[in-house]
Amino acid sequence: MIPESKRVQQIPPYLFADIEKQIERAKAAGADIISLGIGDPDLPTPELIIDELKATVEDAENHRYPSSQGMASYRQEVAAYYRRRFGVELSPDQEVCSLIGSKEGIANINFCFVDPGDINLVPDPGYPVYSTATMLAGGECYFMPLKEENGFLPDLQAIPDAVADKAKILWLNYPNNPTGAVADLAFFEEAVAFAKKHDLLICHDSAYVEMTYDGYVAPSILQVPGAKDCAVEFGSCSKPFNMTGWRIGYIVGNAKAVGVLARYKSNVDSGAFQAVQYAAIAGFRRAEEIVAKSAAIYAARRDILVGGLNEIGWNLKAPKATFYVWAPVPKGFDAKSFAAHVFDKTQIVITPGTGYGQMGEGYFRATLTLEENLMRQAIQRLKDHLGQVRF
Ligand SMILES: *Cc1c(COP(=O)(O)O)cnc(C)c1O
Repeated sequence: MIPESKRVQQIPPYLFADIEKQIERAKAAGADIISLGIGDPDLPTPELIIDELKATVEDAENHRYPSSQGMASYRQEVAAYYRRRFGVELSPDQEVCSLIGSKEGIANINFCFVDPGDINLVPDPGYPVYSTATMLAGGECYFMPLKEENGFLPDLQAIPDAVADKAKILWLNYPNNPTGAVADLAFFEEAVAFAKKHDLLICHDSAYVEMTYDGYVAPSILQVPGAKDCAVEFGSCSKPFNMTGWRIGYIVGNAKAVGVLARYKSNVDSGAFQAVQYAAIAGFRRAEEIVAKSAAIYAARRDILVGGLNEIGWNLKAPKATFYVWAPVPKGFDAKSFAAHVFDKTQIVITPGTGYGQMGEGYFRATLTLEENLMRQAIQRLKDHLGQVRF
């Protein structure tokens, strides 16, 4: 067998492989596992979206190749959502492209703008696709540490000029996975000014823009005047509409970047199934109502989890967005040993922060994708087996 390409050889081994093996073994031995590990909504896709799929799936028109840019009606609906939700005007033809899930576009855009030896500015901790896809395109990552004392925002001014001038893409993601942090428009304004100064493309991943609580409303980076000169935003139906398995998302913003990605895509894929695009359109039309329902459910779970952890010694603030709780590990542990300890003692799966980068050392991530009863059970187990924790 021929060796794999150098490109693929560079990709680090899957960081959660050990934990997954451990889970499999424990499951086989009959362990009663509660997973706070996976960022995948447990709630079903709303009925109105499923109904629209049913209504369009039998139409032979939809059985043919879609365009990789997406149907005009899908792109118009995304533009309508941006106008209504953010007050941002988008040209459906020039500034919107469908994606087969946003992860697809997040990975592929690196191949559009990064040559071997180029640098991307990548948050640490962060969604792993930013760094692995940068590397697959032959680029190198300059990691921007996200520190608690900065509200988990990168300190753009700390990036050396020589690095910023050489860099191509500035990756941002707010509301943030894994920290649950949010960014305000003032931060996005700073990022746009920084990108213009250093001639960067900002790729903002807004996967959690609709997953917000307590009245908090997350902005789009495209609300910053002039953002379209240097920024694109990735969005997804996965988290707001509980559609992770359906694979549908979008890129919006800078026409050049959207167009280049569409051209690249037309050579490597053939777009999202049209019936899925129709279903997503139905979701966007009722977006506010759908996300309000989910948010109420996640907020109640969040309060159980954060409240429970605080009772046994943590001092966490409830995140305003995302379905993640990012918390420090107690004294005497590192990220990996704490996750292993919790699993050993309680059969609860949490993710070690180091799965998201070196700066995740000292943290773990827990998700809110468990119904309230199970969340209460999880807290009870932690209380029974960890006792009071210290930092
Ligand atoms: C879930 C997630 C995505 C990917 O979503 P898809 O549209 O399902 O590919 C992108 N970015 C972040 C930060 C995520 O957590």
